Amino acid sequence: MSTYKHLLVAVDFYEQCEDIINKAKALATIYDAKLSILHVVDNLPTFDPGYGADLAFNMDLTAELMDSSKKRLAVLANTHQIPANCVWLEMGSPKAEIVRIADENEVDLIVVGSHGRHGLALLLGSTANGVLHHANCDVLAVRLKAD
Ligand code: AMP
Repeated sequence: MSTYKHLLVAVDFYEQCEDIINKAKALATIYDAKLSILHVVDNLPTFDPGYGADLAFNMDLTAELMDSSKKRLAVLANTHQIPANCVWLEMGSPKAEIVRIADENEVDLIVVGSHGRHGLALLLGSTANGVLHHANCDVLAVRLKAD
């Protein structure tokens, strides 16, 4: 049986992303695999409470989001002992970037939440669904509570 060597956990900074990271970490430990973490700043960002109330709303929103996301990602990586060379911050379509980073880094398991900001009312959120359909490796959708 083949085992996983490189896991990629995709996070959207919602509260439950800690649960997703913890599950990915547990699997990485079991498989003695490398764990990378990724956040994608959406191409056309709109104000989203997931980024926090401290975000200044101005014309340079994308730069603000990149900066604020970099800090949040660094805190998460630090908390979960994920080294800097395994931390990815990209801009674009979340599902496309998750698949691209996985492809380019020989990721064999992508870990996402069953839903996040786009999928609260759905069984499987749009990012999770897109990744599941386009990934060239296994995908684990961690079931999150609807509330
Ligand atoms: P969604 O499909 O948007 O409801 O989100 C489902 C899951 O996809 C989330 O729990 C995250 O694991 C992942 N995800 C969503 N948006 C992003 C993003 N911008 N960057 C990285 N991962 C994301």
